[in-house]
Amino acid sequence: MTLDTTTYAVPVARGSAALRHAVADWRKAGQRVGFVPTMGALHEGHLALVDLARERAERVIVSIFVNPAQFAPHEDFDAYPRDEAADAELLAAHGCDLIYAPSRLEIYPPDFATEVRVGGPSAGLETDFRPHFFAGVATIVSKLLIQVAPDVAVFGEKDYQQLLVIRQLVRDLDLPVEIVAGPVIREADGLALSSRNAYLSAEERKAAPKLHEVIATIARNVSQRATIAPEIEQGCDVLRAAGFDPIDYIAVRDAETLTEIANPERPARVLAAAWLGKTRLIDNVPLDPA
Ligand code: AMP
Repeated sequence: MTLDTTTYAVPVARGSAALRHAVADWRKAGQRVGFVPTMGALHEGHLALVDLARERAERVIVSIFVNPAQFAPHEDFDAYPRDEAADAELLAAHGCDLIYAPSRLEIYPPDFATEVRVGGPSAGLETDFRPHFFAGVATIVSKLLIQVAPDVAVFGEKDYQQLLVIRQLVRDLDLPVEIVAGPVIREADGLALSSRNAYLSAEERKAAPKLHEVIATIARNVSQRATIAPEIEQGCDVLRAAGFDPIDYIAVRDAETLTEIANPERPARVLAAAWLGKTRLIDNVPLDPA
């Protein structure tokens, strides 16, 4: 399959052969390659990662692939927003050199039988509620990193546990890529940008920034030595009153290992996941420095 250079302003590779060909040409020219994996429905959070990749590499590849392996059967795979033309337009404006938009069959042929499982930071939090999730993420990210072979790959702190799982994966398998993290990009009212925010009703959208407000309050109070458990309890009460139900978790964890914090001097993070109607929101913030 060759590169599609006519549909959008940015060329699209739909298969790994066309992708490898383009990357090989850039490598021959001595250019560094940056990579941003996404599931599309792009927003300013994704585009900030593209800008970061741009700063670190002469060429930027963005993948768009809604990965079925990270959705459980009851989750929103079919409903997940998809708009490739709009994504391509945004990516063109941010200097993306190539979109990699493989088909499901290209990634998972019928005889596909491999799964990548990462331990360490994948324990708890998201895994308690989405047990399938990180194996799905680790498998697709492994495959994409091997196919694209970038010098640098950029991931968002928005999915903080995912970021740590990917760092662990890359370290453990000696994948020759530098992982760079981008900060969480938010709406003016604090709501973290997410493709899933499109699911929120007008009323839910009004309540949604409470999630950030609550974890930011916990971060501030715990930084000032408040006891963690009552802070979390109070945060849950505030979220319930704002209409969040259920609250999957609010947790204060070590920022590098995601274990319970034993040493208050080490960097820590407040992480949360909660439902507003049919939409699951996740967010996290750093604890203020001591
Ligand atoms: P997704 O398309 O949701 O799989 O996300 C693709 C990448 O964009 C992941 O590395 C996410 O962490 C990152 N991302 C999503 N939303 C944001 C945001 N609001 N700020 C920063 N990065 C984000």
